[in-house]
Order: sequence, then C-alpha cells, then structure tokens
Amino acid sequence: MIKSIEHIPTICPYCGCGCGIYLVVKDSNIVGMEPWKDHPVCEGKNCQKGRNAHTFSTSDQRLKTPLIKKNGVFEETSWKAAFGLIADKFQNAEPDAVGFINSAKCSNEDLYVIQKFIRVVQKTNNMDNASRFCHSPTVPALLSTVGSGVMTTSTISIEQADCIFVAGPNLQETYPIIARRVIRAKGKGARVIVVDPRNTLTAKNIADIHLQIYPATDLALINGMMRVIMDGGLEDKEFIEKRTQGFDELKNYVMTLDLKEIEKITNISLDVISEAARIYATAKRACILFNSGIAQHAAGIENIKGLADLALLTGNYGKPGTGVNPLRGHANGEGFGDMGPLPVFYPGFQAVNEETARRFEEIWGVKDLPSQPGMTYMDMVEKCKLLYVVGANPMLAAPDTNCVRKNLEEKDLLVVQDIFMTETAEMADIVLPAATAMEKDGTITCLDRRVQRIHKAVQAPGDAKPDWVIFCELAKIMGFEQQFSFDGPEQIFEEIRKCVPQYRGITYERLKSPGGIQWPCPTEEHPGTEVMFVEKFPTPDGFGHFQIAEYKPPLEVPDDTYPYIFTNGRVVFHFHTGTMTRRTKGLNNELPNGFAEINREDARELGIEDGDPVLLKSRRGEIETVARVTDDIRPGLIFMPWHFSECAPNVLTGPTAGPPSKMPEFKFCAVSIEKV
Ligand code: SF4
Repeated sequence: MIKSIEHIPTICPYCGCGCGIYLVVKDSNIVGMEPWKDHPVCEGKNCQKGRNAHTFSTSDQRLKTPLIKKNGVFEETSWKAAFGLIADKFQNAEPDAVGFINSAKCSNEDLYVIQKFIRVVQKTNNMDNASRFCHSPTVPALLSTVGSGVMTTSTISIEQADCIFVAGPNLQETYPIIARRVIRAKGKGARVIVVDPRNTLTAKNIADIHLQIYPATDLALINGMMRVIMDGGLEDKEFIEKRTQGFDELKNYVMTLDLKEIEKITNISLDVISEAARIYATAKRACILFNSGIAQHAAGIENIKGLADLALLTGNYGKPGTGVNPLRGHANGEGFGDMGPLPVFYPGFQAVNEETARRFEEIWGVKDLPSQPGMTYMDMVEKCKLLYVVGANPMLAAPDTNCVRKNLEEKDLLVVQDIFMTETAEMADIVLPAATAMEKDGTITCLDRRVQRIHKAVQAPGDAKPDWVIFCELAKIMGFEQQFSFDGPEQIFEEIRKCVPQYRGITYERLKSPGGIQWPCPTEEHPGTEVMFVEKFPTPDGFGHFQIAEYKPPLEVPDDTYPYIFTNGRVVFHFHTGTMTRRTKGLNNELPNGFAEINREDARELGIEDGDPVLLKSRRGEIETVARVTDDIRPGLIFMPWHFSECAPNVLTGPTAGPPSKMPEFKFCAVSIEKV
C-alpha cells in the first residue's frame, strides 16, 4: 500500500529571519523537511539549522507527562494533580511573590494567553523573557530617538542598500539568510562595513571594511564617525531640518570630541574611521544592522542611541534599505514584544499605567488589573518565592550561573514548562510537557514585523500540550472560565487583533499567502507596511530626536588578577542554550563541544596549544574547556560560544546595568585563563 505523504507549510523555529519550510509528514510522523521555494524571505534557501529544523521534535528525550519531584526524584503524575498543586500555591500568593519567565519560542497565541493569565489571574506584571538579555536596551533607546524599537525596513529590502553597516552580528553564522541579502546587495555595488573585535566569517567573507575595534568601544567609534561627517559637511541638512529635533545640541557635543582620543580608545586608525564614515554618509541608502554584540553591554542603551543619531544625521530613515534594524535572535522575537508578556508593556506596546490597565479591564471583562511595572528577569529569579518558567533556561541564559542556581534552590515552588528536561527543569518541583511549534497552529512574528502562520503537522507526544492550552486549563481551575474559553488559536488571534492596533487588519485568512503580512496593518484592506517612518516618526511630535550619547568604559575592566577580556556569542550549528540543536544529530555532530578562542600570541605566552584543556576564572566562577588557538581574535580577548551547559560562559559573566534596561554586561568581563 502506498503511504500518504503530506507537505505542511510552516516557519523555521530557530532564528528571527522567518524562513518558510515544508515539514514532510508520513503516517502521522515528521520524516523530513523540504525547502519552500516561493517563500519570499528565504526563496527555498535555508541554513544548516533550518535544514534540520524538524529533527528535535521527534527526539526520544521529549517530555511526555507532567512530573512532580518527590524526595529529589521526579515521578510521573497527571495533569489534574500537577494543576492542583500549582493552583493551590499560586492562588494564595501575593502578586509580588510570583514571577513568570517566558520564551520567544512560543507562538503569539501562547504568549498572549500567558500574559493574560498573569495579569488577570495573578494580578501582577512580574513577567519577562530572555530578550531582557538581548534587546532590552533597544526599545528605550529607539523609543527616545525615533519612537519605536522595531526593524524599520524589511529583510528583503536590505538588498536595496548602497551601504550596510553591520554593528556586531556575525551574520554568516547567526542570520545566514540576512547574510545572503547583504551579499546580493554587495553584488549590486553596496559597500559593507563590519564592526567586530573578532575576524568572523562575516568580516572575512563579506566586509569591505572591517573595524576590528577594542571591545566595548562601539559608541566611541560611532561618535567619531559623526564627528567626521560633521567636519566634512556630509550630514543630510534637508532631512535634519524637516524631520528632526535636537541637532544643534548634538553638534555642540560631537564637536568637543577629540578624534585622536577616539583613535586610541577604539584602536582603529583615524583614516579608517574617516573612510567608514564617508562611505556611510555618502550612500544614497545606508542600512544599519545590529544585535546583541552592541546591545549586551551596560552601555547598550547609549550604544543604540548613537546608531539612531548616525542614521538621523545622514537621513537614513523612511526608505527601503535604510534604518536602524535590531535583529531578533528567536523565531518569535518580535511577536514576543508585540504580545506584551513584559513588565512594562501590555499587548501592542501599551505602557503599563492606570489608563492602560482600565482599557484592558474593559476588553477582558475583569477588575483590578495591575497598573504598576512588574519585576524584570533577574529580580524575579532573586526575589519571587514562586517562579513559573515557560520555555526558558535561566541556568544557562542568565548571568552569574552560580548565583542563579542558589536563587532557584531557594524557591517555594519552581514550575518549568518545556519540551525537554533542561538544566532549569532539573531544578524544578513540577515539570510540565509542552508541544513544539510543529505540533500546534498559530502565528509568529519575525524580525521584520512579518506575521506568519505556523501549522500543526503532527500530534504532540504523550500528554504534551500547547502552552496556550495549559494556561487556559489552569486559569479555568483558578476561577476564570469566561476569560479563557478559547476554542482554538484563531479565536485567540481575533482577540489579539482587538488589543494590538498594529495587528488589526491581519486575519488567518489573509495569512494564507507565503510571506505573511508586515505590521502595522490597520485595516483588512491594508497591504501591511514594509518600510516604517516614511513621512513621520511615531514620536509624540512626529520628529526624530537626536540624543547625546557619551562613551563610558565597561563596568568591569581587566586587572592583574583577571587580565583578559571575555566575550561570547553564537555559532552556526547551535541555537541559544542548545536545548534543541544539541538534540539534533546533524547539527551536534558538527560541533559537539564548547571551546575558548584565544589569540596565537597570547596562547604562546601562556604555553597553551590548540586543543589544550584550559581553565577560565572570573570574579564569579570558573569553567573548564579546550583552547582554540587562532589569529582571528585580537590579543587580550577570549571568546566562547554559549550553547554548552558543561562549559557555560555565564558562570563567568556578571555585572548588570541599572534601570531601565537592566542589561547584564554579557559581552565584556575580566577573566584569567591557564592551561590545566
Ligand atoms: Fe531558520 Fe534562521 Fe536559518 Fe532561516 S536563517 S533557516 S529562520 S535558522
């Protein structure tokens, strides 16, 4: 008998590019993936992760039943028993005793229901996710300059840029489909400037100019470029006059800067800084791409304000292939912000305050919604007695792992809802099995505000359920039947459309076309918005506002005891904390272990050879790994990928910025390194 084979269209669950893939389903099992050739984002080209995207969901390590820990050992239990225990503890807790850490791996429908549960049932805004550690500086920085923290152009229109300024991301490894667009733009004559202290694949293969700066001096470089632009009269005077405010103040500040001093701070020659500045300023369309490389610093907000100033100064907003574009790491990174499971925003980036709370009370038919900002990620890890973690892994993702472990051990109740037994789930009192994106219908919103459908290809294994189903069932047990009686994801999406103005014109029916719809989409007749800020900025007065951003050194600098700078990042074969990619043979076999990159000269002085076991120490902890000796990293700098739990870099990282971003200084701390 011929077995039936189906091809289910969906979106790659890894990075924020939003590539389409087909899941190949045979006899109710996923047996492979096929490229989606007419998908406008990827055009049938997927990276290594995308080509293996289907594999982790069929792993035999999937969680299949709820688990309760008794005397330190997990025992299988029923949903009823697990829900009973959770409801009992959470129902009687004060709002500030409970915290929820969520994940941008969830769908929009999951996240909408989760934040509604937290606000309606728990009456708190204590909720956050790992984007606290990626783009928490992006939103306040871009809100204050241009009124919105989203990508302003589309992935596709990057090809229309004449200059692409890559501030940090190693595109070829972390956003390969965007790297492809940059290479195409280069083929049409665009110049590519890459800022990175490491000589990455992107720097080697794509850059026309590689600014291999001293780590954490990005803002000094950006301010130096603005000084060169102003000295040469290369600013866009018409744009500044018509569309911005605060130029004179910025100019007064920038003209005080000493370019010789900036040359010293950044370790980039003035000639090269000047060349980069001129290429960027004289391009008809210049596009800035950035991500955690520039954001994961205590000075992340200032760094990003500097990027926005640079784009405003040169009139690079409001056209395809321009703008200041944050690249989100997770498949639903943009959707996470849009759905509002955040301590300071209700859905649709509506600020937490009395007025917003009253508006949502009307929509949801409840009283006493919280109107004060909630706790952020690390505050919840430290202070909340009851912690509920959905799809997140603070044991690897949060800074200062030893401190996180101690805090988690002290919880009255730790609930983890995930697809695998993660390092954080191991520490939980209750573990709940969740469905993957391949086992549920819904939508996700990728980095260029593109809302797309994900489709259920197979049943979740065992008793695993979609996150939205779990929270609806729990809410009903806790007395909120009416607010959580959704009959499926489409009905949830219809409620999202009512709450999130940017999604108002998007329907499941309209999302049948490949490539989805980019918000804002105010009506069902509106085609969606590829380029933002065409005529005005979404600031109260419609102008872009220059901000003075002053370079300051990092919080912790090298000294005699810890003489090296430590930084970390991602590699092409793995994703985030490795939960999915390390369970994917085709990826894990390519790179099964972590490593520490060290410059050849530094290694020689320390008697370290390639492949030697090494011990890294910081003020917070120590880890062992193996050395990878290379010329591609500048002297004095050590780099590690952060996907490997057995040598988790966040044992070493530490200091955290103050409000509003509370961004840990992930990309810079002081360490020692020695051969073991
Ligand atoms: Fe998936 Fe990102 Fe690779 Fe596209 S670029 S296939 S979305 S991991």
